[in-house]
Amino acid sequence: MGELCIPDCPICGGIGWVNVKQDGYWLSSPCPNRPKYYGSTGLERNEWEFSVDKLKQTNEVKLMRNAIGKLFTDGKGMLYICGGFGIGKTYTLKSAVIEAVNKGYEAYYIRHNMLIDNLRQAYDDKSGQSVYRERMDDYKKIRFLAIDEYGRERMTEFSKNAMSELYDYRYEKAINGNLITILASNFPPEMTMDEYMQSRANDYRCSVLKLNGKDFRKGV
Ligand SMILES: [Zn+2]
Repeated sequence: MGELCIPDCPICGGIGWVNVKQDGYWLSSPCPNRPKYYGSTGLERNEWEFSVDKLKQTNEVKLMRNAIGKLFTDGKGMLYICGGFGIGKTYTLKSAVIEAVNKGYEAYYIRHNMLIDNLRQAYDDKSGQSVYRERMDDYKKIRFLAIDEYGRERMTEFSKNAMSELYDYRYEKAINGNLITILASNFPPEMTMDEYMQSRANDYRCSVLKLNGKDFRKGV
């Protein structure tokens, strides 16, 4: 194993970890000088430089920044962003994943249809059920999960069940835990979620950010 941090790091001495006091306890935390690794974020190499600072600061971008900033401040939460094409949702989401990694979180970006395909394809394996469980657990447990193009997936029974299991788990842990979930969609929750999920998305502890943008279209 190589060193986790930069050689002779002035903060950690190169071991990559520092002790921080939180709520009266000492915890091990990644050293802020550690070189960041974005290889398991689901982002392409050329997206590792994404930063919301580089976007034109429109109203929509500012609103998204504030809402995402609040998630980072709280260290947990759920956010549903909906709005039309061309307002920078995807770029903002990807930047947030980079920002999360910079803060030492394990973070992942995925489009809704890819997430469902990945779960569905678990059943191509002989031990389908357990492969499915493993994959579902990965999506459940990751600290920061950004699901893009939410609602573009054609909602089969499989897809609805998988999503409501994942959403439910992450909702609970957004409140009694430390998970952060962002869903971005071209459609409002009323069009993409059943009533139970909608009631949770609209819970006072979660937030739905409705943006318009010039290209807002209803339906596909
Ligand atoms: Zn260090």
